[in-house]
Amino acid sequence: MNLEGKTCGMCMKGKLHKMQDEAEPGIFVEAYQCDACKEIEYTEAIMRKVEAMRRHDAHLRSLIKVGSSLALSIPKEIVDKLHLKPKEKVYVTRKGNQIIARVAQV
Ligand SMILES: [Zn+2]
Repeated sequence: MNLEGKTCGMCMKGKLHKMQDEAEPGIFVEAYQCDACKEIEYTEAIMRKVEAMRRHDAHLRSLIKVGSSLALSIPKEIVDKLHLKPKEKVYVTRKGNQIIARVAQV
């Protein structure tokens, strides 16, 4: 399926253009980016491959309600690898339906 020139499903304003997206570090896949809102969309086939790849070494976690927010517990394996401590500062951003947490190096 080719999404080139199709109207963006997120903002309904921009048009999608073919590009290479780094889905995982060092792994580039064919994707389409909206020229208005910059949202990145994958075709169904690419999306399935990316999801399978992400599940492969992903930890399944449940979100915990904390006041009006939701908290995500970080698996011990990652805590140890990144030497994380309570109160550590982390930048949280969104990329499509992914939540990216980047440790603030201070
Ligand atoms: Zn858009």
